Amino acid sequence: MIVVQKYGGSSVSTTEKIRNVAKRIAESARNAQMAVVVSAMGDTTDELIAMARELTVLPDGRELDKLLATGEQASSAILALALHAQGVNAVSLTGGQAGIITEKVPSKARILKVDPKRLKEELNSGKVAVVAGFQGITDNASWADITTLGRGGSDTTAVALAAALKADRCEIYTDVDGVFTTDPRVEPAAQKLDTISYEEMLEMAGQGARVMHSRAVELGELYEVEILVANSANNTQGTLIKKEDQSMEVRNPVRGIAHDDDVARLTVLSVPDKPGIAYQLFNPLADSNVNVDVIVQNVSQDGLTDVSFTVSNAELEKAKSVLAPVMKEIGAKELVTDENMAKVSIIGSGIRSHPGYASQMFGALSSEGINIIGITTSEIRITCLINKENVKPAVRALHKAFKLEKA
Ligand code: ADP
Ligand code: ASP
Ligand code: MG
Repeated sequence: MIVVQKYGGSSVSTTEKIRNVAKRIAESARNAQMAVVVSAMGDTTDELIAMARELTVLPDGRELDKLLATGEQASSAILALALHAQGVNAVSLTGGQAGIITEKVPSKARILKVDPKRLKEELNSGKVAVVAGFQGITDNASWADITTLGRGGSDTTAVALAAALKADRCEIYTDVDGVFTTDPRVEPAAQKLDTISYEEMLEMAGQGARVMHSRAVELGELYEVEILVANSANNTQGTLIKKEDQSMEVRNPVRGIAHDDDVARLTVLSVPDKPGIAYQLFNPLADSNVNVDVIVQNVSQDGLTDVSFTVSNAELEKAKSVLAPVMKEIGAKELVTDENMAKVSIIGSGIRSHPGYASQMFGALSSEGINIIGITTSEIRITCLINKENVKPAVRALHKAFKLEKA
């Protein structure tokens, strides 16, 4: 049997916690071949980013990736040492050594392929392989560069390795008991879900439920890897992310509420309202790999209009620098930005067949006096853009309005 386990940053934030994680791994390794993916210790990644930003507002992508990847390289070696101390034969590997090949896109590279040859050999020789999460390497021999997979990307490392190894189990260990109806740190009445479909989890993750990385869920669905999310500090049952099944149909059509308060809004003022302008604005952003979300265009007056859209705060500086030359080209008047935005979403596969959820959502927000600045939807999700200061009351109001609280 092959098992892939992943331990997140807060589960390995101290050597004491690493010792406990090593004990859990030693236990599982008695009956299985184990590949263990580990995140950087505690807040290491944030600290490294802060250090880079002290020196420059827009750090070079290649250097930043190389810097951030050290966090996971350190924790993987430390965990291997902790396993040795428990008498477990273990070897630590970087993402590249584990065969993770990515595209050459700094800070959010997608995995192109996994070559698990070395990993399999290590497992077959009786070792626990401890793989540095969140990173890969570009496929260019001596010009290969270290890349990272985006914040929270160690989950993706784990699912990609589980798929490549055809593992029997893929287990993501974190600091909560599983996937909840909403972030249990924002709403203590949130309920743990026993199961959730890939589709719903993907929307939750995409809208800020950082308990799982979106790309990990996408890979899980693609390669049919069921993903167990559970607590590294206890033995409660956790949440299984899997294909939608019939038993999921009878429950509440809304599965959960997600929020993301790391949102910046950019507004391009007074752009000519004519064909091609949206393309001129958004194409360079896409080329620079900036993810654009909630887009709102005002009704034009005198042939001019304002276009607003959101990006993550981490990408704001990049978006501004990409747009600067475009602004001149299209004759826009000004670019104004607001870093204090948030998104709140209701998610559930039942939404597609139940009309009226949008109005119920707007009603719940308005009864809290919360102003809606923009809206986006998918088949199974409705998202409202709001001010950051309103995010917690919004989550709580929606959790209550959609009857997701513990009985
Ligand atoms: P790790 O370091 O283990 O990867 P993360 O901090 O990335 O952990 O993710 C776990 C956190 O995700 C939890 O502590 C919780 O605050 C947050 N979270 C947000 N939404 C949810 C949700 N719906 N269910 C569970 N946790 C959530
Ligand atoms: N250490 C990285 C981060 O903080 C990756 C991860 O934890 O999954 O985003
Ligand atoms: Mg995480």
